[in-house]
Amino acid sequence: MDIKDLIPIPDLLEAKNVLVIFPHPDDAELTAGGTVALLTSKGAKVSYCSATDGSMGSFDPSMTREKIAAIRKEEQVRAAETLGVRDIHWLGFSDGFLPDIETVRRKMVAVIRLVKPDFIITLDPWLTYEAHPDHRKTAMAAVEAAMYAPFPLAYPDDIKEGQEPHSVDGIAFAVSSHPNTVIDITETWERKIAACLCHKSQFQEPVWKNVFGPILTAKSAEIGRKIGAAFGEDFKVMTTTHLHIFADAWQV
Ligand SMILES: [Zn+2]
Repeated sequence: MDIKDLIPIPDLLEAKNVLVIFPHPDDAELTAGGTVALLTSKGAKVSYCSATDGSMGSFDPSMTREKIAAIRKEEQVRAAETLGVRDIHWLGFSDGFLPDIETVRRKMVAVIRLVKPDFIITLDPWLTYEAHPDHRKTAMAAVEAAMYAPFPLAYPDDIKEGQEPHSVDGIAFAVSSHPNTVIDITETWERKIAACLCHKSQFQEPVWKNVFGPILTAKSAEIGRKIGAAFGEDFKVMTTTHLHIFADAWQV
């Protein structure tokens, strides 16, 4: 008997309150923007939580961390609005230099207890060949935060007004080597691209046109083909129950 037969996989598109936790400004749009737009167009509330301030995101030697962080914050707000997202929580860690996972997790638990999402979207912390430490740490901290948030005895002194211990129904890992869910994003594809292009400091016209645009289009079309859609985004959707002491959880 497989664990997937014992514990059902929740339906991401039925979520009413979703928290998207990502390492840097632009990651949410690139990896899950079509799904976010679909959720908000169905009436779901979607909130963002950015682990870092994006302050390493420039190849210009004359740029400062403060300046690029301010630019990227503005770009992220506009990108989020394009997808129907107005609630953004900034953890404020320095881009490229996230501290240890426990420190990050603690701040994420506080956001989960405030937002009280039924679903979390984040990156897959077990993605093979992911070299960026911010990506690995953010994803692992997010899944650990989802596990800890329901326990009143986890960080009890952090629980402020408006916050309470909270369980999520599901977690959707974007950019997973083992996806189990494909979302048809054909109707929100244009909005996803528009939101990605709000991140002007990261995707200047020639770079987008020659590199990111064609790659994103080809990969999204390939994912969409699995369900007969023009464009798709895929996720590994699980519950926190799947994510503890089950050896076959990877194949859920
Ligand atoms: Zn990133």
